[in-house]
Amino acid sequence: MSGSALYDTYARLPLAFERGEGSWLMTADGTRYLDFAAGIAVNSLGHAHPHLVAALVGQAGRLWHISNLYEVPGQRRLGERLAEASFADKVFFTNSGAEALECAIKTARRYHFVNGEENRVRIITFEGAFHGRTLATIAAGGQKKYLEGFGPPVEGFDQVPFGDMEAVEKAIRPETAAILVEPVQGEGGIRRLSLAAMRKLRELCDKHGLLLVLDEVQSGVGRTGRFLAHEWSGVKPDIAAVAKGIGGGFPMGACLATEEAAKGMTPGVHGTTFGGNPLAMAVGNAVLDIVLEEGFLEDVARKGLLLKQGLAAIADAFPEIVEEIRGEGLMLGIRCKVPNAVVQKAMREEKLLCAPAGENVLRLLPPLNVSDEEIQNALERIRAAMEAVTAAAPADG
Ligand SMILES: *Cc1c(COP(=O)(O)O)cnc(C)c1O
Repeated sequence: MSGSALYDTYARLPLAFERGEGSWLMTADGTRYLDFAAGIAVNSLGHAHPHLVAALVGQAGRLWHISNLYEVPGQRRLGERLAEASFADKVFFTNSGAEALECAIKTARRYHFVNGEENRVRIITFEGAFHGRTLATIAAGGQKKYLEGFGPPVEGFDQVPFGDMEAVEKAIRPETAAILVEPVQGEGGIRRLSLAAMRKLRELCDKHGLLLVLDEVQSGVGRTGRFLAHEWSGVKPDIAAVAKGIGGGFPMGACLATEEAAKGMTPGVHGTTFGGNPLAMAVGNAVLDIVLEEGFLEDVARKGLLLKQGLAAIADAFPEIVEEIRGEGLMLGIRCKVPNAVVQKAMREEKLLCAPAGENVLRLLPPLNVSDEEIQNALERIRAAMEAVTAAAPADG
């Protein structure tokens, strides 16, 4: 047996944290790390936010769980608030991002089924996508490394190069039900779909009777400086999945849909034991109390610019390490010229946490309520890490 009773699916760092406070994480010996990964965009309001703690503890003393066979008042309220804040009319709560995507895929197929077009089941997806680790979502993501060894992939996904609108148009057939895309690819390397491409997708969907399904699991709930990232484009999807940031660290997700798109989701056709549980709903409502406060999202956009400008200056100073700075709001990426793991390790030695991504990118995803001072502090640590990488590199010539 290897060193632990846990599945060996994660190559874990030998680093454990005992507690967190805002943008900071503390190890048992009191070492402080600045957390610019935030559980991969999950701890949207940092660690141990007093309003979230109060919501969770308050609910924990009243009622933990009640089946979806009964009314869950917090769920009704959070659903209404999400609908109010977004394009959606209807909401289904889940425990994770992948389950929100499963619901989105089922909703899209079911829509065509109830329209009498049961052969319309195929969904166009994009290279570099990440939609989760269930059997359907690894098929949707289409990445060989996640599909290998798990038997025949779930049928019905047609993948095209990211952002290639001609390829999308060519891939549309009579069986096509929907187009599924991340407005900003997270795992894929902070790759943003251009606003023109987003509008083109809407146009193609309208022309061919397809549903536009967005995976906003990482980009949603304020991460890019808008409530949902697609809002930058001005077009509206039919269905969208959110998760990560919506629970601020409590596991939860949601599938949002227009009334029309959700019309096939009638009593009994879908379900969940834990989704929309009172504990999750209490925390989700508390997250929205803050994220939907007047001026909060504008401040995320402003701080995103501050961080991006600081990163651009670092990119100029270290052209041999940094290829490009990309992203929107507080969903930023440093594309590296040296292996991203080398830069990530140097940052960790400066006690700054970030997350790797595809295309040799490092993701910076700080809590949305990170302060200006913490951003400056992070930039100093990143600069120091770049200097350490430069010093360690073999001098050329
Ligand atoms: C994390 C992520 C998922 C999967 O979420 P889980 O909660 O891990 O199932 C799906 N899509 C995107 C864009 C993600 O970033």
